[in-house]
Amino acid sequence: MLRLDIVSIFPEYFAPLDVSLIGKARERGTLDVRLHQLRDWAHDVHKTVDDTPYGGGPGMVMKPEVWGEAIDTVIGDGTPRMIVPTPSGRPFTQELAQELAREEWLLFCCGRYEGIDSRVMTEYGSRLRVDEVSIGDYVLAGGEVAVLVMVEAIGRLLPGVLGNACSAVDDSFAPGSMRNLLEGPVYTKPPVWRGHEVPGVLLSGHHGKVARWRRDEALRRTVKNRPELAANLDPQTLDKHDQAL
Ligand code: SAM
Repeated sequence: MLRLDIVSIFPEYFAPLDVSLIGKARERGTLDVRLHQLRDWAHDVHKTVDDTPYGGGPGMVMKPEVWGEAIDTVIGDGTPRMIVPTPSGRPFTQELAQELAREEWLLFCCGRYEGIDSRVMTEYGSRLRVDEVSIGDYVLAGGEVAVLVMVEAIGRLLPGVLGNACSAVDDSFAPGSMRNLLEGPVYTKPPVWRGHEVPGVLLSGHHGKVARWRRDEALRRTVKNRPELAANLDPQTLDKHDQAL
């Protein structure tokens, strides 16, 4: 069981966590998601959670006192791993998703405006493992969508969540032979659709040839779409056939 606490000024953003794989994982008790309204810890009549930035500049910054009270109440004496989404964080990767799926308790703190006062991360960094994490090189309006992305990527790796546990093994970026590789194209029935044929090797029933074809296609796609990943492939993981591609 993985416990997830999510603190946000928009807990309603997380309605999608009720459906599909993640919704079923919650029903089964594999995932325990607890949503918290940050404004519950703001004490003025307007429930203010932000203030002007020191040093000037546009936008507002989320207040440390409100976050401090919220986090103290949510965690009590516990020690979850704290994840703060921010475009200036370390990249969220499949490897990090795997690592987080092995934790017992994660606390996600969703920023808005120009982000959370940095002293909040300093304060809890002395007690908890705190990671500031970016889901990509672009700027969202708030951390909620970033947390949805992370929760879905982490949740599908938990035992029993995917119908076929092997599907995660063949995914793009999966540890092992797919590490740093994108998955190649996939096909289903019928064998011919609007004149487009499924590659013959996939109908051959020859497992060795199918595996070879999949690997070749994964390499081709990686070279085409993510040349920087292809350039960094460990030569020791490449056989002669790979290197010829
Ligand atoms: N001023 C910040 C900067 O340039 O780094 C951007 C703040 S953004 C408008 C507001 C919030 O959205 C952030 O505090 C963070 O929670 C979230 N956010 C935006 N882009 C993100 C990304 N790429 N990854 C993770 N969180 C993101």
